[in-house]
Amino acid sequence: MIIEGGRERVRLMVSTVAHGRIYSRLIGVFVVLLAMCCGAAPVAAQGRVVTAAPAGEAGLQLDAATLSPVLPRSVGIVSGGELYTVQPGDTLLGVAARFDVDPASLAARNHLTDLDQITVGQSLRIDAPLAPAPVLPADGPLARIQFWPWPPVQGQTLVVWLQARAPVTTTLRLADHAYPAVVEGRHGWALIPIAPLAAPEPTPLTLTVGATSMVVAVPVQAGIFERNAIPASVSDPILSQANQVNAEAARLAALFAVDRPSGWTPRSRFSSPLAGDYPRTSPFGSRRTYGSGTAVSTHSGEDFSAPAGTPVLAPAAGLVVLAESLFVRGNAVLIDHGHGVFTGYWHLSALNVKVGDRVAPGQVLGQVGSTGLSTGAHLHWEMRVNGAAVDPMQWLAP
Ligand SMILES: [Zn+2]
Repeated sequence: MIIEGGRERVRLMVSTVAHGRIYSRLIGVFVVLLAMCCGAAPVAAQGRVVTAAPAGEAGLQLDAATLSPVLPRSVGIVSGGELYTVQPGDTLLGVAARFDVDPASLAARNHLTDLDQITVGQSLRIDAPLAPAPVLPADGPLARIQFWPWPPVQGQTLVVWLQARAPVTTTLRLADHAYPAVVEGRHGWALIPIAPLAAPEPTPLTLTVGATSMVVAVPVQAGIFERNAIPASVSDPILSQANQVNAEAARLAALFAVDRPSGWTPRSRFSSPLAGDYPRTSPFGSRRTYGSGTAVSTHSGEDFSAPAGTPVLAPAAGLVVLAESLFVRGNAVLIDHGHGVFTGYWHLSALNVKVGDRVAPGQVLGQVGSTGLSTGAHLHWEMRVNGAAVDPMQWLAP
């Protein structure tokens, strides 16, 4: 049981509404090209948007390969956020049609589970209608951008693949965090962690490629998370020791900040850290309160209930960067898979590796236990991407 504190909220910019057709496969996507098309005549965007399946996965692909030579008009950042007050006679479907938005997205945006649920006087948040098909300029620096998964859900890792026309420097920024791109020649990728408490709303992702920048509104979707209250009798003896708790967190944060080149790519997958089908007793992202406190944090890993002594296996190749007893996490192993991707194994009863070991997939790292802040034998499996805790289950091989 490990907490991941902090709340990330993203304030969005003013809404500039660009009316366009609804692309049913592109719910909630608004893409604006900035600084790529100065001087171009205002024209209807013509382009191609297809969903592609990298390695069998659904995603979003923006492809300039077959574009018309005319460029889209630059309109500034588009995002959601207008409030509409429900009037007598309104229906959700009617409101959706009036604002040219998808009814299901409108319901989800306003946390409505029943399409007949709206009442007169209620405020509905309306995202900007879907923009015309996003396009990449045919003579711009990028030939293709691909996102997976799309749209991303709170707690997932968003993968961005880039294909450029010539080698370029690339940076990515989601809200106010910058993320590195791994670039080889004309191809690159980046891993962007979506915090489990990230606001479920369009969030601007800025790609800077060479001398140009582009903003894509990433429609972060709300996940479904359970809520747990951890009794004070369990948490207080450990969490009251603030100095040790904070020192441990700082030590791990320093390890997570290392970006070591390796063979990890977005097509890498994990095998299960446990051989066998053990119940998942506390999923990643569960909302937690401790004792009588009201502060909500999230569970930073996936808990599996398994008997003490069950072997814990490396899910992928990597370098052991921590293998010791910690105050909160108990006996712990941390593996660096490279490029800012780490997995952690907490509360173990025994350790079978040491710092500096290079482990192979399936190698025994240690054994399930109940050391540290734990109420019974279980494996806490944690994944970190560029410093942030994300759902490891996204990366399990099917
Ligand atoms: Zn846990």
